Amino acid sequence: MIYRELGRIGINVSEIGMGCEGFVDKSFEQVNAFIDLMEAKGVNCIDLYTPNPDLRSNLGRAMRGRRDSFVLQAHLCTIWKDGQYKRTRDIAEVKAGFADQLRRLETDYVEIGMIHYVDSLADWEGCKTGPVMEYALELKKTGAIKSIGLSSHNPQAALAAVNSGLIDVLMFSINPCYDLLPADEDVESLFDAKNYEKPLVNMDAERQELYETCQRLGVGITVMKAFGGGDLLSAELSPAGKALTANQCIHYALTRPGVASVLVGARSIEDLMTSIAYEDAPDSEKDYAEVFAALPKISWQGHCMYCGHCAPCPSGIDIANVTKFLNLTIAQGEVPETVREHYGALSHSAGECIQCGACETRCPFGVPIMENMKRAVGVFGR
Ligand code: SF4
Ligand code: SF4
Repeated sequence: MIYRELGRIGINVSEIGMGCEGFVDKSFEQVNAFIDLMEAKGVNCIDLYTPNPDLRSNLGRAMRGRRDSFVLQAHLCTIWKDGQYKRTRDIAEVKAGFADQLRRLETDYVEIGMIHYVDSLADWEGCKTGPVMEYALELKKTGAIKSIGLSSHNPQAALAAVNSGLIDVLMFSINPCYDLLPADEDVESLFDAKNYEKPLVNMDAERQELYETCQRLGVGITVMKAFGGGDLLSAELSPAGKALTANQCIHYALTRPGVASVLVGARSIEDLMTSIAYEDAPDSEKDYAEVFAALPKISWQGHCMYCGHCAPCPSGIDIANVTKFLNLTIAQGEVPETVREHYGALSHSAGECIQCGACETRCPFGVPIMENMKRAVGVFGR
């Protein structure tokens, strides 16, 4: 298992993480088997969102004696009331809900306390200036949460939260189809087939800005809906007009700037094994470039996907990462210090490009790589 830094908070998470919704209605023995497998395979990042709190009692029991093996992402502002899930900003309900989570999990802290489901700027403003943020900051001060997170499907709301400096971790819905759509306050727009009927070209600029800003500011992203709720894996349902594989979807999410962990859902041990198998899959199975370039309804021409399909470079240049760092500076109009540091850590710089052109013949998106290498030298000086 490969581990990645979760932004600036000093915690490493497995690049394959786990969402818990599929655990609902499972017995303790079944939940325990999931936790056994996760521990054995090094899957340490668990998102605890699930409507029914009974599951958290099973999880708490299953984690006895091994709590420290996991990084827990809990959600503030989600409660179970009258037998139903409820998103709430009522601070008394929020406090009671979080206390219940800790009790059921048999712990006195979680690594991430996530303000749940903020899909509009107005909701973000309300959270930021109201008792929800006050409570989150208080929890962080006491150590009951080690960092403040936010979950969202809307790049505008998420970007405002990230730029506020108050959010350490972002949970966001990322896959190659959602990434083409403009921001919307209604999450249903992501699933609406009508929104995919017209030709879609390149990533939505606000989503691109969101991911780049997260990387620049050290806000780690944990990814939800990498498979679009399973739709992307189905030829019939995929908005791309063609089925993608789980490995392609996971790899796509992991190659977005700022992403630390993809929280895969699993309804069975076999589902979880399939996602964990990503770690041992050959590059050819992860590579999404040629498949995406041939999708009937979607185009990324001229846009670097950070897919790595242009490798190998005879000079050993990591073209995808050089391009990613270059794009971060272009977006900012300056060279952020963290980006300079990351660039400096590359074993080979753009200055080693011999302009052989081999990469451009392999890039299915027509990216002007040789020109980009020259620009990177101009920006980074090497
Ligand atoms: S330059 Fe092309 S092949 Fe290389 S990482 Fe970017 S999109 Fe992929
Ligand atoms: S053109 Fe430059 S970056 Fe591309 S393969 Fe050749 S040396 Fe590497």
